[in-house]
Amino acid sequence: MAVLSVSLDAGRVDSIFATYLWRNEMREGIHRHFNTLLNLRPAPQLFNHPMTLFINPSKILHAMASLADGRAAASAVVAPMNLRKPAAGPFTASAAGGWNDPALNMEEGELKKVLQTVTGTRGAMQYIAKVGAPPERLDEIHALVEDVLKRAEQVFSLWIKDSEVNRINQAPRGQAIDLSEDMSVVLLAVDKLYDVTKGVYDPACSPLLQHYKQHLKQSLRGFDVTSVEQDPQAAAIALYAHWGSFILSKDGKTLTKAHDKAGLDLGGLAKGWAIDQCVAALRRAGFNDIFMEWGGDVHVAGMHPTGRPWSVRVMEPPSVHTLQNTVPTPAALGRQESLRRMTDSSGMGPVPRSPLLSGHAKDVFELQEAEAVLADRTASLGLGEEEARPELANIPLRDGASVTTSGDYMQVFWVGDKLIHHVFQSKTKRLMEVSSSGLAQASIVTEGSCMLADALATAALAMGAVPKEARAFLDAVSPRLGGTTVTDYLLYSREGPKVLRHRVRGSEGDVARDVRLSQHEPARVVVAGGGLAGFSAAIEAAKTGARVVLLEKEARVGGNSAKATSGINGWGTLPQARQGVMDEEKYFERDTCRSGKGGLCDPSLIRVLSTQSAEAVRWLMDDMGVDLDELSQLGGHAFKRTHRARPTPSGDPRPIGWLIMERVQAYVREKLPPDQIEIRTSARVVKLEMQEPQENGGSTTHVPAQKTVTGVTYEDMATHEIHTLEADAVVLTTGGYGCDLSSTSLLKEHRPDLLGSAHGGNGSSDLGMPSTNGAFATGDGVKLGLALGALTVDMDKVQLHPTSFVDPKDPVNPTKILGPEALRGSGGILINQEGRRFVNELDLRSVVSNAILTQCKPYVGAEGQVGNVYAWCVLNKEAQQNFGLSALRFYKDARGLFEAAKDFPTLAKDVIGCEPAALKATIEEYAQSAAIGVCLKTRKNAFPVPIAWTDTDLVAARVTPSIHYTMGGLRISAAAEVLEGAQMDRGNLYRKLRPVRRLFAAGEVTGGVHGANRLGGNSLLECVVFGRLAGGRAGTIKQRRPTCLEEEEWTPVTFREVLQTDFKYGVNTMVFRFHLHGALQQAGLAVGQFVAIRGELDGEWLQGFYSPLSRPDEEGYVEILCRTDTAGGQIINFLNAVRPGGECYLKAMGGLRLEFTGSQIFQGKREIKQLSLLAGGTGIAPMIQIVRAYLYHLVGAGAPENEPLPDPATSGVRLVYAAEREFDLAFTDTLQSIQRAYPAYFRHYVVLNKPPLGWTEGVGFVNADTARRHLYYPYEESAHQLFVICGPPVFEMVMCKMLGEIGVPQHAVFAYSNP
Ligand SMILES: Cc1cc2nc3c(=O)[nH]c(=O)nc-3n(C[C@H](O)[C@H](O)[C@H](O)COP(=O)(O)OP(=O)(O)OC[C@H]3O[C@@H](n4cnc5c(N)ncnc54)[C@H](O)[C@@H]3O)c2cc1C
Repeated sequence: MAVLSVSLDAGRVDSIFATYLWRNEMREGIHRHFNTLLNLRPAPQLFNHPMTLFINPSKILHAMASLADGRAAASAVVAPMNLRKPAAGPFTASAAGGWNDPALNMEEGELKKVLQTVTGTRGAMQYIAKVGAPPERLDEIHALVEDVLKRAEQVFSLWIKDSEVNRINQAPRGQAIDLSEDMSVVLLAVDKLYDVTKGVYDPACSPLLQHYKQHLKQSLRGFDVTSVEQDPQAAAIALYAHWGSFILSKDGKTLTKAHDKAGLDLGGLAKGWAIDQCVAALRRAGFNDIFMEWGGDVHVAGMHPTGRPWSVRVMEPPSVHTLQNTVPTPAALGRQESLRRMTDSSGMGPVPRSPLLSGHAKDVFELQEAEAVLADRTASLGLGEEEARPELANIPLRDGASVTTSGDYMQVFWVGDKLIHHVFQSKTKRLMEVSSSGLAQASIVTEGSCMLADALATAALAMGAVPKEARAFLDAVSPRLGGTTVTDYLLYSREGPKVLRHRVRGSEGDVARDVRLSQHEPARVVVAGGGLAGFSAAIEAAKTGARVVLLEKEARVGGNSAKATSGINGWGTLPQARQGVMDEEKYFERDTCRSGKGGLCDPSLIRVLSTQSAEAVRWLMDDMGVDLDELSQLGGHAFKRTHRARPTPSGDPRPIGWLIMERVQAYVREKLPPDQIEIRTSARVVKLEMQEPQENGGSTTHVPAQKTVTGVTYEDMATHEIHTLEADAVVLTTGGYGCDLSSTSLLKEHRPDLLGSAHGGNGSSDLGMPSTNGAFATGDGVKLGLALGALTVDMDKVQLHPTSFVDPKDPVNPTKILGPEALRGSGGILINQEGRRFVNELDLRSVVSNAILTQCKPYVGAEGQVGNVYAWCVLNKEAQQNFGLSALRFYKDARGLFEAAKDFPTLAKDVIGCEPAALKATIEEYAQSAAIGVCLKTRKNAFPVPIAWTDTDLVAARVTPSIHYTMGGLRISAAAEVLEGAQMDRGNLYRKLRPVRRLFAAGEVTGGVHGANRLGGNSLLECVVFGRLAGGRAGTIKQRRPTCLEEEEWTPVTFREVLQTDFKYGVNTMVFRFHLHGALQQAGLAVGQFVAIRGELDGEWLQGFYSPLSRPDEEGYVEILCRTDTAGGQIINFLNAVRPGGECYLKAMGGLRLEFTGSQIFQGKREIKQLSLLAGGTGIAPMIQIVRAYLYHLVGAGAPENEPLPDPATSGVRLVYAAEREFDLAFTDTLQSIQRAYPAYFRHYVVLNKPPLGWTEGVGFVNADTARRHLYYPYEESAHQLFVICGPPVFEMVMCKMLGEIGVPQHAVFAYSNP
């Protein structure tokens, strides 16, 4: 077995710090391989231990791949981007990680002037505080830290006789013990942790632990009792040795014991608490850059004064073998010392540690320290240099983060012949054994509290489970913590070894990304439209090195994006974790699909949207600097997942769309070189330039040439001059058509009912539906796409926003100001002109809009002017507070859109003009509904605020549905490519859709994401997710190589999408697609050649082999078909877990390799005319690929147009397809449709071993008779025959034998397992 762990070295510009560990059987092979592949220094020696190599980054992937190469398991641990110094080039200025070159080169003397280090020992553990401060403040820092740590001892140490914890432990049951503030904070945390970890974390197990320690003493005399099953006394203690024996008052101020002997050991938690307090105290004293570590637990603030993030290295735990050899046996230690070590390990007292830690009572080290510790370790253990460098990862820590590690090697004792460690497993009520297979070490990084990080590290270890289960435990627990959140973890198990990091679904490691992005030339990219989708695309394209021109037809960029008010959706985000929102993929996707029912919610697009949502929010927050900490739950959402900015300190709301657009523009201005993205305003794109069809590769096939975009033509709106811009790729981000009143109006074409007669629509009133959109929303991009034959989808799906304001001063203005979702989300209720509620205000926009249109009356102005149908949106005082008083002031006082009423009777009489009794009944009914949690009339089941008839100080606004968003638009692929119809679909040989080459689209100009109705907040999300995807694909379009995959090497690629194909290909089948590096790149595989796929799952590298379904000439992706049941093998677990954007590796393998020249088909040099196929079991994918490709070239769309079709008497394919039962058959429809379309060239015959009643084809096993009758037979050399067998090895062996027996020579037979 071999493991490669790779991390980026903070201090080096161009080297990667690679540590790889190997195990005996592989070492020589690996050694040889590395020596030939890499320039190694130092030359590795062969140890059965970890070692370090310095290698060139571009070679690391090859190294990893060759190392693993199917025979070994590999695990990569890669430090995040911001540990790296930015590469020279266009993005130097964009260093988001805060790198500061001059500071990095700071001399030691200079560093001392800005970094003060304080060390000491408390509770027998060393502490170190590093603070960015001038030397004269050193004493102050020391005093602050000492003060907190002393306080911690006084409260929590079991070693101080009159400490508070000792007083608690000695208190009798039933007595209410008053707690200090410090103890109260820690016990409230215990209460929460005990609850969320379901008792896995339990510091009240202390009495049982003490009891075991007595037994451990006996173990010196030969006993081995560490479990309740064998020890009745322990069983009795276990009854009260748990947190359930303590009753903590709700406010945490008093504690009562339910048992006299119940006791607490708060050591670990208190250590974390003290570290948190030290950092807080230092912050209060005005220090910003702090690194505080005590006994291996760390909490940081700010940055290291050199400008890099504080970071720690996590070391690899010692092996069981090493522990066995280094932990002294009781005999060696002597009885007294053994006893001391066993009994002294509790409650912030002296902690006996594994000698491996050589006096450093910790396992994570700040960067520079690590070197010293390693040297120390090396010396004390007499290890070679390579052995003593067991880093697992560099973990950079964000401002405020904490990290703690718990390992099974920290306090280790011999008990009989077992090595027992200090962690107590509450589930089994026993001390745990050091093991190879269980979790050996858990490092937890939290966004804040070190106290919680410590508890979780211990709890993860106490699970005693393999990393996978510990991961599940942490993933389940962390969202429940509330207030703090787990941002990363590293779980290590020796067997394998397995190293698991916090999984960000759909993400790609930095090394793989670097390799992927090193394969292309910089492209010229034109982005049409300057809203959020346009900027997201432009920035991402720029990041690939592209030069971008962004064209915007208005005088200013921003589009409708700048108008957005509610926010952007995302699940699994940091703000959600901070608020303990337990959202998940399945809920997000369900809500999106449910809302979109009735239109096309393309599952692939929704999966991309969902998987990348947290990354989109992170990108806006971290890279663009947008505050998105405020969360709300909009209508149709199961969770709070719409993110927007917090109000200003004075309470003024910050409009999120405007803020985002301001930040992305600032990013382009400040972080990118001036000419990387050129923004041209007042530049309206009027045409997409295309390559003339005859230039399109000189196509001579039956299929019209695939279209290729070569640039755009735009009009300068100021001078009316026309310009043409050539481009390698164009991204359309021109927004929707919600204000398209032009002569070529898309609204008129698809939704005339929404337009008034003034605009040529058939709307029932002259007015037509108002709109919240800007006048620029005229669907230009859709029309540009349509002009070259692109497909559109759901063009009639137009979303009405239920609450745009009717301005009483200008009631017939067709452009309306949006009344934010928050009006209803804050507790506003909708009332009609009769004073009645008529809808669940929090229902989908479509439902609320329709209800207003059918239940309310048109506005009639004082002068008789008739406006749109409207409802009253009424907010009481609490709802106004929730909505935000500043925001309300803006709409009410600055814009005059609200009326005020002192109470409900006044509202009825003077504002709404309805019967007070009717309104009273409505309000009382609402109050009753809120009390029981559901309104039986409208099914409302969330009541943001209580409302009562006696409420005062009310406000109410007239609201009306408006055109708000157009769900329809250009049809795109999961790679943001604009699609056109492939026009021919004869016999299932071709795709129904194919991309327009070099044309991408994102944002509101596209359709297929939102179906019939968009969920609030999903549009900004779509802009970022698909904008970045489109920009990335456009920027990488100029690949240096026409093909992507190699035979000798693993190529890192990203996962694109999965298609459920049960209905198409057979039960339990799915098609998995992988992005090739370039959108125009081909895989580089011949027909019949297969690929190897590998990916990491739960610390293990899984691998499988597949024949692609995609044809070799298809561009941008490769696709495979898999059985997703157990027949699919281990790799299917990885494929089921991977998400769009996730990292995978592909390698071209062997196989049949058919080559096509015109209509001639060759296998090597041999021409093939008559192809006989014998397929079964796992061989169905090559079967279908060969059949399709063969016929495609022979007689289908790939056949040359100017050549006559071949004679069916001499050319064609015959297939015998064997399966166990009918249920196992795949591709039945596909094969039948091919046979229907090309009966002269293709015949197939199915043989079932267990046929159903009524079966009329082959039965039993394929035999000579079947072959003679259904394949090309007898064999004739001059007929250019080839027999291909694809199936499991046994099937292939039997078939080979059978063909030989009927006279088919060996050279005319190809079998996959025995080529
Ligand atoms: C009032 C309002 C509030 C909203 N609130 C939210 C919200 O809170 N959350 C949410 O998710 N969504 C919200 N939406 C929807 C969302 O803002 C938009 O759907 C989304 O921002 C569209 O982004 P885009 O980049 O695709 O298009 P836009 O932001 O509209 O940008 C398109 C740009 O392209 C330009 N353009 C058009 N044609 C051409 C051409 N031929 N040549 C050059 N340039 C051209 C336009 O002038 C425009 O600047 C809201 C919409 C509105 C109207």
